[in-house]
Amino acid sequence: MNDFPARVVVDLGAVRGNVRSLAAHAPTAQVMAVVKADAYGHGLVPVALAALEGGATWLGTAQVTEALHLRRAGVTGARVLAWLYAPGAPLREAVEADVDLGVAAPWALDEVAAAARAAGRTARVHLKVDTGLSRNGLVPGQLPDVLAAARALEAEGVVDVVGVFSHLALADEPGHPTVRAQADAFAQAVGAVERAGVRLEVRHLANAAATLTDPALHWDLVRPGIAVYGLSPVPQVAGPDAYGLVPAMTFEAELATVKPVPAGAGVSYGHRYVVPRDTVLGVVPVGYGDGVPRHASGTQDRPGGPLQVGGRRLGVAGRVCMDQVVVDLGPGAHDAAGDRVVLFGPGTGGEPTAQDWADAAGTISYEIVTRVGGRVPRTYVESDRPAGDDLGAVAHAAHPPAAVPGGVA
Ligand SMILES: *Cc1c(COP(=O)(O)O)cnc(C)c1O
Repeated sequence: MNDFPARVVVDLGAVRGNVRSLAAHAPTAQVMAVVKADAYGHGLVPVALAALEGGATWLGTAQVTEALHLRRAGVTGARVLAWLYAPGAPLREAVEADVDLGVAAPWALDEVAAAARAAGRTARVHLKVDTGLSRNGLVPGQLPDVLAAARALEAEGVVDVVGVFSHLALADEPGHPTVRAQADAFAQAVGAVERAGVRLEVRHLANAAATLTDPALHWDLVRPGIAVYGLSPVPQVAGPDAYGLVPAMTFEAELATVKPVPAGAGVSYGHRYVVPRDTVLGVVPVGYGDGVPRHASGTQDRPGGPLQVGGRRLGVAGRVCMDQVVVDLGPGAHDAAGDRVVLFGPGTGGEPTAQDWADAAGTISYEIVTRVGGRVPRTYVESDRPAGDDLGAVAHAAHPPAAVPGGVA
């Protein structure tokens, strides 16, 4: 049965192992696995559970609704922090669901306090300070007033300030002077909060890049995202294997059509690729509607995004369309409709990686995995459990086992 001729296969054993590797890089800190944006496209709930099995004790989301989704799915054995929301967010539900909330603006503290009063329980908050990213977070001038208000709310039992955190702008360029400047600004903010009498449970600054490259940034809790999924946050420094990471997502499809065409045939919209000799073309039934980046289209001179077909590494020929791409299988190719095509995977079977697609499209691996479209089914395999275990079979990059059907985002 093949309802959709493509799928994402997520190796939950790789997720577990990646979290273990991250914990080993930060032995004095707790690990918060960041699972925002449907776990970077991998599937929120299965990834969250695997990350907890791998040793994470916290889960991090951007939106409050993502945190609530985790709780409603029964993920109750871990702290969950949500840090991005706008006025009117379901904060009362969040407090009732025991979700920690980031506070990044004065209005947010007011709304969290109102939510806590409505819920009849104390809200745990983490003050988010802007140390130089200039995105979400309290600027230094806002901190004293928010801190005073938070102290008053603490005295009433309405909120409990358990954390202070910030986010780095250039952690992916280890040693960049802004990293030191942000680290210093963070230490100052932490000092100000602690001097005001707040007893902090967790002070946290490190994303995946900082977790893997700079122990001085670990503090009490690290917040890796991309590395949980086995992708390097610093691809210009080293690939995932250097950090004990294994890419968890494989994106594969079946060839829909295979046919001969003569030399000179123009391929796909715009005829940006014209076959140089009699050849065989294959149609792969995924396109930008499924997250295949159109920027990775191929031309005459530059092959597009990489694909593995029958053990060969080929490139997209011509433009990426909404639902499909074309690949030049080469003269006399013996591939057939139904044969497996791997767009990306862990790379251990010679297949391309999400990083290769990022390079081909001029973007980052984060965007490649996160944007795989909602119509592509996600299935889950377990690479580190013996066959016969309740969760199933042993995955192999080139020959995945019968997949365990999982949730579709
Ligand atoms: C997304 C995010 C992270 C994780 O970043 P990675 O680069 O994927 O490790 C950590 N903290 C915050 C505040 C984030 O928004």
